[in-house]
Amino acid sequence: MVGVKDRVVVVTGAGGGLGREYAMLLAREGARVVVNDLGGARDGSGESTAMADQVVREIREAGGDAVASYDSVDTEEGARAIIGTAVTEYGAVHGIVNNAGILRDRAFHKMTAEDWEAVLRVHLFGSYHVTSAAWPYFREQRYGRVVMAASTSGLFGNFGQANYGSAKAGLVGLVNTLAIEGSKHNITANAVAPMAATRMTEDVAPPEMLAKLPPEQVAPLVGYLLTEECTDTGMTLVAGGGTYYRVQPFQSAGLRFEQTPSMDDVAAQWHTITDMTDATPGVNPVG
Ligand code: NAD
Repeated sequence: MVGVKDRVVVVTGAGGGLGREYAMLLAREGARVVVNDLGGARDGSGESTAMADQVVREIREAGGDAVASYDSVDTEEGARAIIGTAVTEYGAVHGIVNNAGILRDRAFHKMTAEDWEAVLRVHLFGSYHVTSAAWPYFREQRYGRVVMAASTSGLFGNFGQANYGSAKAGLVGLVNTLAIEGSKHNITANAVAPMAATRMTEDVAPPEMLAKLPPEQVAPLVGYLLTEECTDTGMTLVAGGGTYYRVQPFQSAGLRFEQTPSMDDVAAQWHTITDMTDATPGVNPVG
């Protein structure tokens, strides 16, 4: 049996939606959980202690072990305080789920710099800050598990989500490098792009689709990635409605020009360059 028993796991944005499900499952499986949530609105405005408190209450009533944290992920100090809560309350941090997120959807031509920055600040910078605060503990104890909340919007694009998709794609990039740097310290990093009915998606997807996407169906994947038994790293997975799969960049066979080509040469070979028929998993040629 795989497990997280007695592991200390921080779940950011765990006051509702998917994060709540992750925290509840982890606690049921015997983990000690830091339930972090700023308690604001979907667009990132406001804050309250009520959301995190409610989830902690539910976990404790079910016999689990959890503590609330109300700090924002989007500053270095906030992230240090979140990880500090784990270390002060439970003496360690073994895993983090960078799940906190906000939404400011607008078509690109209407998107303000503020919308852009607010979303990047919570998703990408927030995940960076929390991971950065936990990383020294992971290295020191030679053990750590990182899960990032990615999105199909980052992997494939979505109308109105230039800010959100960029942040989520950035997290996949972060995972790719954390997987490499963490490998010799027994630290894994993976990304999960969930699909679930939450307040974030309530008006984004049609109701009949949302009815088939209960958030608890994503939690076992995130839970598994946090176990010691799962040593896979650098993966991006999609999960929703009971379907789980992996997404990975592939590269075409392409071709090599013996001399610097003209633009016309590129045009003439365009089909060969872009044809994915014999594509293979992508590799970093300088890695
Ligand atoms: P949600 O709005 O229910 O959950 C996000 C939580 O993050 C909220 O409880 C919110 O209070 C908290 N939060 C926001 N800013 C914070 C901050 N600065 N510090 C701490 N907490 C903060 O939405 P959700 O659908 O459960 O989303 C969870 C994660 O999954 C997000 O990262 C989201 O982008 C991602 N995601 C969700 C879906 C989906 O289908 N629901 C799809 C792709 C990605």
